[in-house]
Parts: sequence; C-alpha cells; structure tokens
Amino acid sequence: MNNSNSKQPNKFTRFLRNNAALLLLIFCVLAITAVVLAVTLTRNNNNVVPDDPVSGNPDDNKPSDVTPGDDQPTTPSKQKIDVYFKSPLEYTKVGLEYTYGPDHLFVWKQTLNEWSAHKAVDLHAEEGAEVTAMYDGTVIKADSTFGNGYYVTIDHGDGVIATYASLKDLEVKAGDNVKQGDVLGYISTTAECEYKEGPHLHLEVTLNGEATDPMPYVNGEVYRTIEVETKA
Ligand SMILES: [Zn+2]
Repeated sequence: MNNSNSKQPNKFTRFLRNNAALLLLIFCVLAITAVVLAVTLTRNNNNVVPDDPVSGNPDDNKPSDVTPGDDQPTTPSKQKIDVYFKSPLEYTKVGLEYTYGPDHLFVWKQTLNEWSAHKAVDLHAEEGAEVTAMYDGTVIKADSTFGNGYYVTIDHGDGVIATYASLKDLEVKAGDNVKQGDVLGYISTTAECEYKEGPHLHLEVTLNGEATDPMPYVNGEVYRTIEVETKA
C-alpha cells in the first residue's frame, strides 16, 4: 500500500516535471486569450453602451434640442429668391396681340374700323372675371377714359409700369400699395375703342417709358431676384 501510495504522487510529480514547459505554455496561452477576450468585450461594451443612449435620447429630443441650435445661426441670414411676374387673369384666349415696335405690324381693330398698332395685348375672359396685379407695386392711377374704360396703372418698380384697362368696378385707388395677386377690378367691355372685341383685359406694359410686349410678363417669364430673411 505504501509503495502504491508513494508511487502515485511520484508519477504525478514526474509528469509535472516532465511537462512543466508545456503546462506553462498552455497557461500562458489561456492567460493571453483571457486578456484578449476581456479587452475585446470591454471595448465592445464601451462602443455599444454609449451608442444606445446617444442614438436613443437625442432621437427623442431632436425636435427641441437640435432645431433651435440649427435655426439660431440661420434666422438672421438672408436668402435670394426669384419672384416671377404672373398672369393677371385666367384668360381663355389672346385677342389683339402686341404689334408695336420696329416691325410696326398693324392689327385690324374692328371697333375703330382701321389697321393700327396695338401697344398692348387683349386677354379675353368671361365678363366679370377677376383681374389681379402681376407683381407687387404702387397704384399710380385708377380712373377711366373713353378709350380705355376703367383702368388701373401700377408702378411695378425697376422701370416697369403696367396699365390694366377695360375693367369695371375698380377695387383699388391711386396711392394704394398692392401685392401680387390682389384684385384690381373685373373684365368688361368698358374700353369704347375695343368694345366690339368682347369682354377682355387690355394690358399695356412700358419699360423705362417705352412700350414693350406684355406677354413675357403674362407668361411668367420675367422675374426679379430679391433678398428675403429666412425664418423658421
Ligand atoms: Zn387692346
């Protein structure tokens, strides 16, 4: 018994001695693996844990936290935008066209029974259709003449003056400031010179005092670049 008892520890001791280097190596590998695992897990945790609150909480607070921060620097800044002239009415057809200029093409004016220049365009619509300002401006005249009927002349700035004629029931008076789209009056046949043409708007435009074709304005091809303050 003693022999056998003493032999077993001897065998184990011998095994330890013979394989000490191998055991040490295995221990080292295990230790290194443990350290690497620990570091990796810690890093992952560091990445994951802060990410969740960062992406979660700001999502909830974004409308209140982020928006004011973004707006504060942009509120006082100015932005340039293009504002186009727009048609003064929804016309059904163009009657007499603009025929003034170097070519001097005359048009037949059945009311006057003659061929003559037409420094305007006639935009036809039903009697009573609304006529609106093509652009912001100041009313210079709101009156009536035999030839043009009731008319409104607006200074649209930058040398552009438009006369909206053959109207009735004028909605503006001289000195009024109008905004684009404001109603000036209504389609009629009050222009005695053109009453046979039917209800229409007789629209004249002058640029720096010279008659010019109104259609680019009516078609919204003319624009101005203006500065506006950007607000939330
Ligand atoms: Zn006309």
